[in-house]
Amino acid sequence: MAGVQDRVALVTGGAQGIGAGIAARLAADGAKVAVLDLNQAAAQATVDQITGIGGTAIALGADVSDGEQVQAAVDQVAAELGGLHILVNNAGVLRDNLLFKMSEDDWTTVMNVHLRGAFLCSKAAQKHMVDAKYGRIISMSSTSATGNRGQANYSTAKMGLQGLTKTLAIELGPFGITANAIAPGFIETAMTKATAERIGITIEQMREANAKNNPVRRGGVPADIANAAAFFAGEESGYVTGQVLYVDGGSELV
Ligand code: NAP
Repeated sequence: MAGVQDRVALVTGGAQGIGAGIAARLAADGAKVAVLDLNQAAAQATVDQITGIGGTAIALGADVSDGEQVQAAVDQVAAELGGLHILVNNAGVLRDNLLFKMSEDDWTTVMNVHLRGAFLCSKAAQKHMVDAKYGRIISMSSTSATGNRGQANYSTAKMGLQGLTKTLAIELGPFGITANAIAPGFIETAMTKATAERIGITIEQMREANAKNNPVRRGGVPADIANAAAFFAGEESGYVTGQVLYVDGGSELV
């Protein structure tokens, strides 16, 4: 099976959480993986895990909202790993606040990392994908895209990523490139732990509350999202594009 075997993947925000899970899964499935994060040393920890079990990976330090850093990182990936076939736009931050308390900086930071970051990474990556007439772009949306109290900035960015995904699917499809989005529900990571702390509950309480509200009665883990990413990233998924896959234990159903 071709899958992602010998393909080159770039995963942003890959030092921890969902990004680290996706990087590990793609590497386990045979891809050569570039793990990009703000802090290169943190990205190296994911790389060490991958190489420790025989995978191929490199660590990159870059801010996805900085055009020059993104271009340099993408050039490095292509030079060191031999092209770029799979991009996972995963880097993210939260700056939650009710609208009347949300600062301009809260708004701009979230837009810059999620939307500008995905735009810059996709733009730099598509050059290599178009040259190869092959590519897979996967962006991390969220169930919050349809609206969530305290997340005017994040909801807007996550719905924006769905629009970006569909547009990239239209523009890049003729070059053998697909673009899809994953919209996770609650996934246990540093991001959700920080949110639990901020609202004064434990991560266990947050997990339980989410489990109660979905049909599968459990919280999500990074491997759940990595599984969806592996599907979109696979060569066999070339007829699947412009889609948004909600991976949330069915919580939108109840
Ligand atoms: P996480 O544990 O906080 O990991 C996000 C990673 O992105 C961190 O390593 C972070 O680095 C990095 N990052 C932040 N800003 C960056 C930038 N400008 N350039 C490069 N890297 C940057 O979050 P997660 O829970 O795994 O979330 C991953 C993605 O899934 C995010 O887009 C998030 O919005 C989305 N998502 C998560 C959930 C969930 O329940 N966890 C649900 C729906 C969607 P620092 O730690 O140094 O900031």
